[in-house]
Amino acid sequence: MNPRIDIYLDKLRSNTKVLVEKCNKYDISVTAVTKGFCGYPEIAHELVEAGVKYLADSRIENLEKLQHFPVEKILLRLPMISMAKEVIKYADISLNSEIATLRALDSAAAEANKLHKVILMRDLGDLREGFFDEKDLIETVKEVINLRNIEIVGIGTNLTCYGGVIPTEKNLQILLDTAKMVEKLTGKPIEIISGGNSSSIYLIEEGRIPPGINNLRLGESILLGGETTYGGKIKDCFIDTFQLVAEIIEIKEKPSIPIGEIGLDAFGNVPSFEDKGMMKRAILAVGKQDLATHPITPTDDKVEILGGSSDHLIMDITHSDVDYKVGDEMKFLLGYGSMLALMTSSYVTKNFIKGN
Ligand SMILES: *Cc1c(COP(=O)(O)O)cnc(C)c1O
Repeated sequence: MNPRIDIYLDKLRSNTKVLVEKCNKYDISVTAVTKGFCGYPEIAHELVEAGVKYLADSRIENLEKLQHFPVEKILLRLPMISMAKEVIKYADISLNSEIATLRALDSAAAEANKLHKVILMRDLGDLREGFFDEKDLIETVKEVINLRNIEIVGIGTNLTCYGGVIPTEKNLQILLDTAKMVEKLTGKPIEIISGGNSSSIYLIEEGRIPPGINNLRLGESILLGGETTYGGKIKDCFIDTFQLVAEIIEIKEKPSIPIGEIGLDAFGNVPSFEDKGMMKRAILAVGKQDLATHPITPTDDKVEILGGSSDHLIMDITHSDVDYKVGDEMKFLLGYGSMLALMTSSYVTKNFIKGN
């Protein structure tokens, strides 16, 4: 069924292996982040086989789908108090920064007769989640020590997400100092010191990751082979792991500029056009409902995306070497946004491919 997303499982396993090896060399374990593909177990299976230590997702619904894997599951987004019961049920570990939430998790864990592990998040300046104020952190730790069903197992940080702040030896050293301080307060070693996401990979590549950081939470780098600090490709990783396949439903010679008075387009914007004379145009049966406006890259580099509406994508195929016919397929490489949107869309078939 088209449109579909072709998912190359062997390439994903290979990317994961490459990253696990790079990290293990520095005594760093890998938490595979599954939210970019909505936690499909077919994909998670490859990541687990490739040797990741944990599976992590921001959505409890996705963690629920991953229960049968024999690794610990981490909830990445700070828990909602209203969902404390589900958090305890489906996550072994959660990331936290609020004492009220930790109290709610403690009650829910007590009710389920479980010990719930937490990683406390430190905000090192990116200004998304985490303790920003050290006093706030210290007071929280002191109270959590007395919560009988909560155990602090880690300290973590998240960077390059909201503020674009890059992980460095300097800010990660603050994380290591924080871990030491928390160890003093609890009197127990901190097992997990999680030094960020795919944007920390460059520090490993340059051999500059501070010793003591022993975990990274990797999504984009595993899924799309990309290093996210500078936007480069990671050596030995595949970037064509997820591909959109869409089908041509019309091919016609038409002008490049619409005929008539121009009002608003389907999304309320005033469109503008470049006059390139007559062109050969193809319409694909995929649109903004599936993709939003996230960029995609045609594998045929002689075609160009002209635009589209909720269910149509319009292409200029004038200069292509391929003699496209109605019913033919076109393929596209994806970025994180388009992968996420296509995996989330119920109108897009998920086609899992073993072998290349
Ligand atoms: C999404 C997310 C990650 C993974 O980020 P990537 O850039 O895809 O590697 C890691 N940690 C947290 C808390 C996240 O929300």
